Amino acid sequence: MPPKKLKQYSFSRLDLYERCPWAYKKVHLDGIPRASNEAMVTGKTVHALIADYLLRLINQKQQTDWEWAEGAAPKDGSPDVLQIWQKFYNSFILPPALDVYGVEHKLAFDRNWQPCEFSADEAYFRMVVDFHFRQGELAVVLDWKSNRAVPETVEKDLQLRTYGWGLKQVAYPDAQEILLRLHFLRYGKEREVLLEPQDLEGVPEVLESKIKTIEEDQDYGPTPGSFCGLCGITAHCPVMSKTLAPIEVIAPATREQAEKAASLLLALQKMEKELTARLKDWVKEYGPIHVGDMVYGPSPVVSYDLDPQKVATMLLNASLSREEIWPLLSMTKTNLEKGLRKLKRRDLLEQALSTATAKGSEKIDFRKANS
Ligand code: SF4
Repeated sequence: MPPKKLKQYSFSRLDLYERCPWAYKKVHLDGIPRASNEAMVTGKTVHALIADYLLRLINQKQQTDWEWAEGAAPKDGSPDVLQIWQKFYNSFILPPALDVYGVEHKLAFDRNWQPCEFSADEAYFRMVVDFHFRQGELAVVLDWKSNRAVPETVEKDLQLRTYGWGLKQVAYPDAQEILLRLHFLRYGKEREVLLEPQDLEGVPEVLESKIKTIEEDQDYGPTPGSFCGLCGITAHCPVMSKTLAPIEVIAPATREQAEKAASLLLALQKMEKELTARLKDWVKEYGPIHVGDMVYGPSPVVSYDLDPQKVATMLLNASLSREEIWPLLSMTKTNLEKGLRKLKRRDLLEQALSTATAKGSEKIDFRKANS
């Protein structure tokens, strides 16, 4: 039977194929839903909040609306989402007088790479651009990033060139250059890259050839690597099921399967230490090992033996207040207990703990069963 073909593509579909053809096949051809992970949920929630905020600012002709933004913080949002959102609205100022703009702009192109309706049957390649506007002669495109790392520079990669090319076709046909601005939401930092006409040349042809490779693939082999923790279909992966356990143990549905999964987890936890120690010895002797796109081996690490007193004095001298400094010198119950034990004053522990507010939470892990 010839392999199924998709009718519609997007950059993220092409990207999934490049990361792991098996994951692509399972999700897009076999229709297995991808299990979402925390990063995906955070990204989605924050993008939706920002889109609502931008549309409000544009409609109200305001550059900021902190009161509205504060009230819009989702009551059930994770601490991560709330922190990112607060950072964003406290630092973002809408550029004035936007007459041409798009928020979460949905673009689509037909098989001849001509613009068409996003929901049309002939929509062959689709993309959603977070935010764009015209600033004088320049078309500016903003992409919100919830990544934890901010790169020093930004490559003009295919994804950015695709956004630039798509927007030029649909919104800014006369723009000579397109400024792409990546806004790293966690840190309020931006990185920019200017797309010139030659960067936008040949984009449809590159996309077309990637689609051809996908459509000609006969076996969609899995490619395990760093993406395995994020693919969302680990439970349907033949590599994982062979190396770890039967599929029902990876994705338990009954108590019996959950018990098997727990035994496996316990065994893995026990094995981990031993395996790590042996592998460390091996790589010290014979050098790093490659596993897919990851390398297991030594890399330089710098650690600092900080003296809290010296650091606090230095920060106070630099005009930071005590209230700002104390939280930086974080103290845990374990450290406090260890320290007091060393000083042979463990009797002070309860008294020291009573100066803090105790917060209850839940931790799911192995513990000794009551006999
Ligand atoms: S677990 Fe790894 S190899 Fe398996 S489908 Fe996911 S990304 Fe591919």
